[in-house]
Amino acid sequence: MLEKFERYPLTFGPTQIEKLSRLSEHLGGDVELYAKREDCNSGLAFGGNKIRKLEYIVPDAIASGADTLVTIGGVQSNHTRQVAAVAAKIGMKCRLVQETWVPFEDAVYDRVGNILMSRVMGAEIELVDEGFDIGIRESWERALEDVKDKGGTPYPIPAGASVHKYGGLGFVGFAEEVRVQEAELGFQFDYVVVCTVTGSTHAGMVVGFAKDGRARNVIGIDASCTPEQTHRQVLDIAQKTAELVELGQDVTAEDVVLKTEYAYPVYGVPSEETNDAIRLCARLEGMMTDPVYEGKSAQGMIDLVKQGFFPQGSKVLYAHLGGVPAINGYSYIYRNG
Ligand SMILES: *Cc1c(COP(=O)(O)O)cnc(C)c1O
Repeated sequence: MLEKFERYPLTFGPTQIEKLSRLSEHLGGDVELYAKREDCNSGLAFGGNKIRKLEYIVPDAIASGADTLVTIGGVQSNHTRQVAAVAAKIGMKCRLVQETWVPFEDAVYDRVGNILMSRVMGAEIELVDEGFDIGIRESWERALEDVKDKGGTPYPIPAGASVHKYGGLGFVGFAEEVRVQEAELGFQFDYVVVCTVTGSTHAGMVVGFAKDGRARNVIGIDASCTPEQTHRQVLDIAQKTAELVELGQDVTAEDVVLKTEYAYPVYGVPSEETNDAIRLCARLEGMMTDPVYEGKSAQGMIDLVKQGFFPQGSKVLYAHLGGVPAINGYSYIYRNG
């Protein structure tokens, strides 16, 4: 579905699919859990899902004649760290707007993890005191103007690389990659579990899996805590991406399955149950997840198994999208493990 689009390779290649045997067994053994390790997809500053998206955005950035990638996120944004790494790799400057999206206070929150790496990679960082919103932000538009005023040529990348005309393509590619891996494994996954916030990861998967009738088998776990806006944004990106790749079928609101009961108390702050899920995956599988995104989708998947949401014998693929560096910003929570 992606032949006509240019891709700038930033990843190691297809990501590994790993069986989570001990977690599956722990949860009763009726459902087989697997993880597709997008968190290990690249050598660029620990990688993650934004790198897969950026492979389809970088050719446009280069063609535009830009010299500076400009993007936005929270203080511990994984996305901004991945953009900073990509800018370094392709020889561009990087300007990051990092807003106070997360009402969480840890003494080292703005000094460690993602933001530490972005600084080391040479990004110019502006901290802005604004709350969470997955939409287009004024602070980001001001940064674009500022780069121009200083004689630079900015290339705008929206939050999460989502509301960008090519933002959904990377995860259409994920679905195609899964189909090839399924042929090698000799079975198909019945469900894919994915964490959803700015939406193009989920949207790309919906389009990619719609091709063989599995759009609704993609189970989004909302971590934004603004689920109506997120659902709307996923649907919008999916519809635009479907048109772009000439899917040849409509994507409707029902195709975007979003579970909204795991994002509490708010974006970026883990609940006790999220922390339990993080510890469980870590202790049974050595698989680290973070308190903002993947801990919540792991919690959702575990809870859905316990509730019997997945029929007996189902094979469930957890898309591990990365994000572990952020856990350093939550050091006090995990001081005793
Ligand atoms: C950005 C991110 C997500 C959410 O992906 P969206 O495309 O923004 O919905 C999930 N997990 C991690 C680790 C992320 O960095």
